[in-house]
Amino acid sequence: MISLQTPIEQIPKVSKRIVPALKRLGIKTLRDLLFHFPARYENFSNLKPIREITKNEIVTVQGAIQRIANFKTAKRGIVLTEATIQDETGSLKAVWFNQPFLARTLAKGITVSLSGKVTLGPRGLYLQNPAYEKILNRQSPIANAQGIHTGGLVPVYPETEGVTSRWLRFLIKSFLPLRLQLADPLHQEVRMRHRLLGLKEALKAIHFPRSIEESGRARRRFSFEQMFFIQLRALRARAQLKQHRAPAIPCNIALIKQFVRSLPFSLTDAQRRSLWEILKDMEKSSPMNRLLEGDVGSGKTVVSAGAMLACCRAGFAAVLMAPTEILAQQHFATIEKLVNPFGITIGLMTGAQKLSKPKCDIIVGTHALIQEHVQLENLGLVVVDEQHRFGVSQRATLVDRGKNAEPARDPAPNQRESALVPHFLSMTATPIPRTLALTLYGDLDLSLLDEMPKDRLPVITKIVEPGKRDAAYRFIREETQKGRQVFVICPRIEVGDQKLEVERHMQQKLLLTDMKAVKEEYQKLSEVIFPDLRVGMLHGKMKSGEKERAMQQFKNGELDIMVSTSVVEVGVDIPNATIMMIEGAERFGLAQLHQFRGRVGRGDAQSYCFLFPTEDGLITKRLRAVVETKNGFELAEKDLEIRGPGDLLGTAQWGVSEIVVQALRDPDLIRSVREEAKRLLGSDPTLQAFPELAATLNRVEVSVHPE
Ligand code: ADP
Ligand code: MG
Repeated sequence: MISLQTPIEQIPKVSKRIVPALKRLGIKTLRDLLFHFPARYENFSNLKPIREITKNEIVTVQGAIQRIANFKTAKRGIVLTEATIQDETGSLKAVWFNQPFLARTLAKGITVSLSGKVTLGPRGLYLQNPAYEKILNRQSPIANAQGIHTGGLVPVYPETEGVTSRWLRFLIKSFLPLRLQLADPLHQEVRMRHRLLGLKEALKAIHFPRSIEESGRARRRFSFEQMFFIQLRALRARAQLKQHRAPAIPCNIALIKQFVRSLPFSLTDAQRRSLWEILKDMEKSSPMNRLLEGDVGSGKTVVSAGAMLACCRAGFAAVLMAPTEILAQQHFATIEKLVNPFGITIGLMTGAQKLSKPKCDIIVGTHALIQEHVQLENLGLVVVDEQHRFGVSQRATLVDRGKNAEPARDPAPNQRESALVPHFLSMTATPIPRTLALTLYGDLDLSLLDEMPKDRLPVITKIVEPGKRDAAYRFIREETQKGRQVFVICPRIEVGDQKLEVERHMQQKLLLTDMKAVKEEYQKLSEVIFPDLRVGMLHGKMKSGEKERAMQQFKNGELDIMVSTSVVEVGVDIPNATIMMIEGAERFGLAQLHQFRGRVGRGDAQSYCFLFPTEDGLITKRLRAVVETKNGFELAEKDLEIRGPGDLLGTAQWGVSEIVVQALRDPDLIRSVREEAKRLLGSDPTLQAFPELAATLNRVEVSVHPE
């Protein structure tokens, strides 16, 4: 029995050869196949009699094949298939390149439908490489019922090697009737209220729409649905957290004032506002779940230090988790200076799994160490740096460890103690557009550091055309002679398919190719271009200890140039590094380029970011946007604007599907989705009346979260 759950390898139509390619597209079952949506449509709805066609228009013509044969071209030996088709009004030639099998598939006498562009050749008008399709019943107008490759709107799918759109169309068309087995997770009332197509109708319309308008309605339905799931999950998580109790940490204004006065600089308004929001959250007895989002260098650490100070003074412990050991050390040193005057003790947890002090108020360490080796008693606050490095489930375990009892639904005062969970603050330098953040992180409250400390010099960003490379190298040499240091980021190697990233062996391959790029660049710079300078390298295949040592050397000023892949994130504060060189710059997403740039410009000296495109022609809109825009949030908004449906790389970075990105451009849609989600959970918090929705929600839980 064939059902939606049937794995594709069990389908006779699907040959063994093609299975891996389908899997790469994320298609494992027939259900996945139906939910593999077209990226765009070819408009072949201009059906015309042959006599009426004109040069350069895109047409669909239908007729009988009079003649079809293969030829080899004299010059380059390419196989041409030439056919003549005839309808009641005249005849027309069609030519295909390198598809000799067509002479067999489309034999003389067969009625076909051809769609393509009309070209004027030396012997008159003809169709070049038209899409083709046999018509069984000449009477039926192809534009609606029968045609799937020609006539009407023809879906074009995101392809991967070995799977063409033509083949996907055929396969999807064959199994489309299976959609009738699907239950619609969107309730009828919701669909009516927001004028959304039903699931069955929408699935048909998104693959084989009768008009652009219809495909738009189908897309809107799926956009709504996906956003709805995201919102529901976020609101549910929020509601679940509300059932827990956290220690209420009184907002000690005198203490905070003293802290702010003790700093060697004055806080920016954004820092003040954010610290205030955090302190107000911690005052409550329900757990804080807040995201502090701010560009690299916007000063998140000091804000978290203020929060930890307040927590410890109230008698609770705090932990700060960093993604790498070297960052943990950096945070430890910074925070120790900040809280020492207040008699707060702080310990660093190092690779040896030992705590530098046995008993302390604040523990700083890497995420892994803290999670595995610290007894979190009396924990008031958990701070996680670079939140996107930590998984949702990991976060959950940590919170679970902090509490030691069931959630207290109706806690009596004397029971409270046993049911406490810590407040949670995560920090990220990934600029996410506000709409996106509110949606994807809907379970978090948001504090934005959208302002840089005043003394910062903006980084000068330049695109270096391939011809100007020598001049750039000269400039770099001069800077290093002044004692400055340089980062070089190597191009990411194109792999051609975004989904490859999820497969482990492919990831290994990716690391290997990235390593190759780094090694080559390292050799070029250290042996040919700057033989007199000290060059180091970092890549994903190095052991973490090796990476940390290399980074430490750079930080200590023992290296002039550090060549690195994008895989290795260098979140370390090196004020003396003033130049960021990015090779193959056009291959990176906007947000990523901005992140790289943030690694310089942390000290007093003027810093520079040089973008090296691979070729002249590759100076893209994106690169220009990085040159023009200094603010990460603005850039992120621009990224959302610029990226067309084809740009999946950037999407993968945020972990959302193209259809969600599309929805994010539609504020009205987002508003209705949020209202609907609130309304639904308000009336039915456990979704008891909507089992289909609850099931779908749990199924997609893992797949869309950006971490
Ligand atoms: P990030 O937000 O990237 O984590 P950090 O917290 O590491 O930024 O801060 C970067 C640098 O800026 C640190 O050296 C810090 O001491 C400094 N800094 C933070 N806030 C201010 C401020 N208001 N004025 C001047 N310098 C500041
Ligand atoms: Mg930081």
